[in-house]
Amino acid sequence: MPQSTTAELILVNAHLPETGPLQAVAVRGGTIAAIGDTDAVTAGLRDARTEVVDLAGATLLPGLTDSHIHPVIGAVELAAGTDLSRCRSLEEVRTLLAEAARTSTNGWVEAWGLDPNLFGSEPISHAAIEPALNGMPAAVRLFDGHALLAGRRALEIAGVDGPRGFASESSVVCDAEGRPTGHLLEMEAIALVLQHVPAPSRQQTLARIRLALAGMAATGLTGGHVMDAHGDSFALLDELEQGDADGLALRLALHPWLDPSEGADGVDGLIRLQGRAGRRWSVAGVKLFIDGTVDGGTAWLDAPDCHGESTRCYWPDPAEFTRAVRRLAAAGVSTATHAIGDAGVRHVLDALAGAGAGADAGADRAWRHRIEHIETLPAELVPRFAAQRVVASMQPTHCTDYTKADHSDNWSTRLGQSRADRGWPCRELADSGAVLALGSDWPIAPYDPRVVMSSARTRRPAADPQAAAHHPRQVLTARQALDGYTVNPARARGESAVAGRIAPGFRADLTVLADDPLTTPPADLLTTPVRLTVVDGRIIHRDPAL
Ligand SMILES: [Zn+2]
Repeated sequence: MPQSTTAELILVNAHLPETGPLQAVAVRGGTIAAIGDTDAVTAGLRDARTEVVDLAGATLLPGLTDSHIHPVIGAVELAAGTDLSRCRSLEEVRTLLAEAARTSTNGWVEAWGLDPNLFGSEPISHAAIEPALNGMPAAVRLFDGHALLAGRRALEIAGVDGPRGFASESSVVCDAEGRPTGHLLEMEAIALVLQHVPAPSRQQTLARIRLALAGMAATGLTGGHVMDAHGDSFALLDELEQGDADGLALRLALHPWLDPSEGADGVDGLIRLQGRAGRRWSVAGVKLFIDGTVDGGTAWLDAPDCHGESTRCYWPDPAEFTRAVRRLAAAGVSTATHAIGDAGVRHVLDALAGAGAGADAGADRAWRHRIEHIETLPAELVPRFAAQRVVASMQPTHCTDYTKADHSDNWSTRLGQSRADRGWPCRELADSGAVLALGSDWPIAPYDPRVVMSSARTRRPAADPQAAAHHPRQVLTARQALDGYTVNPARARGESAVAGRIAPGFRADLTVLADDPLTTPPADLLTTPVRLTVVDGRIIHRDPAL
């Protein structure tokens, strides 16, 4: 059958940064068919079936992609119930929890994203939320996903009435009288309470994922590099796509985990999994961990932190990690390694140096391997990213929102002045020629790309524009921040010939913002309306004002 010559979508009066006056863009078969003068574009491609949208001068961008996100596990496990991540006081938390108690359908108050800093110097305790709960059991996750605040009734139901011993690092925090405060640390302790929360039905689970993806699309995201693939992720994604062309609002590239315990068989299994795909999702790499977190004392640092912690690799034998990465690389598989501490980042770079990263590849697959997070980086390691063609995948809001410019926070205190000064060196990496891909790590931080790009340009938290900047020399330019959501995620995926730019033959994944992010001040970028989100040529989100 000859391909249709009709465009399904034509966007007119589009402002494309750097290409001069208003233009039209035609989309056919999910790809960009033509760009140019409105008359010329519409003449050959428009008929009665074509949807024409007048952008009225709004800015048309390549679809924004978050390079580190957990939409499925986030929606299913970590982000159940009410989102508290925007609360700036315990009073706001109580207001939202009271509303959740009124509207609960399963007898529990569930919430997530609680910032422990809201407690100030007071201990984290359920006493602060109890007045809002109306006697109901509550399970409130803290923002990092590694702790829970359980209400009094929830502790009763779980039979938690004092300290407990655990095989892992978990603990039940208790007050001076030995009574649990409701603050439960790490997975085993959290599970004591969560196992009593009624599990959502399959329909509710699917609805949660749908809601999360729709929320992302409404902020202009068209894609995400998903840094996990757990449990029945594939089945859930398949179910969402069944009978619904837009069942996935975003294009998702999944990176299932390789755990050190899985050995060579695990590596082979992940190699076989590559390329497994639905319509808008595919397995596109492997996620590994070289360390944990600075806050948890589990990062891998050259020298211990102020508590004598963060000295070890996550792999019992770091050489095993190197072997696994090289085996994956030899099979042509992209690797994405969580590396936060300086020793961890160095070890991953060393492992990749011997993996032929980039050397074998044509230009499009040159940037095949990536390092996630890179929270503290000695200056001498900066040039190695560009030299070895290793993508730097970073989350600027983890710096601006979860550490303090004056270094009084836990992360900075643990590292000490000189290493904290080397926190999240985004600008140095971008200027060095490295591919810098940006993201949020949602649900660890909010996913709105306008917020992440803005904070990357100011090195300040979006909620507190008067705050002192974190290492102001690391601010990104407007272009670098936008590239972090457009061309650079495409390069990281080896897709720079089909994605990340607006050009004929490229995928019609498009984001329309009211203002041009290249000329809009960072403070205004935060609130610039998202006019349209297009994935695969289909309108996923549309501002009623358009
Ligand atoms: Zn993550």
